[in-house]
Amino acid sequence: MGDTIFGKIIRREIPADIVYEDDEVLAFRDLNPQAPVHVLFIPKKPIATLNDATPEDAVLLGKVLLAAANYAKQEGFAEDGYRTVVNCNTHGGQTVYHLHVHLLAGRKLTWPPG
Ligand code: IMP
Repeated sequence: MGDTIFGKIIRREIPADIVYEDDEVLAFRDLNPQAPVHVLFIPKKPIATLNDATPEDAVLLGKVLLAAANYAKQEGFAEDGYRTVVNCNTHGGQTVYHLHVHLLAGRKLTWPPG
């Protein structure tokens, strides 16, 4: 799987509204937000889909999720709640093939998703 737009964001080749970064994880606001808060948390390592994650990625994926939870606490919406989503492949609605966790918050989200 080749490079994606998220790879370009990691390398600062295109702009993004970055809200969190460490050695392994980057988070930036979604260009087309579906909620008042919509942030994408990605591993800097380019894993295309959740199907492509290996046991060696277990800790990294945990760090991505924890970064999202920490952000929710830091921004003060953890108690009201939020949703994390990982879309996988066509039926999951994945459009960018660099694994990412959507963090959606700021309104009461409906269930089930469409
Ligand atoms: P997916 O459909 O789960 O793959 O989510 C991809 C997300 O990336 C969508 O919510 C898009 O709005 C978002 N997106 C695409 N390009 C950019 C960008 O350049 N910056 C920020 N978000 C983007």
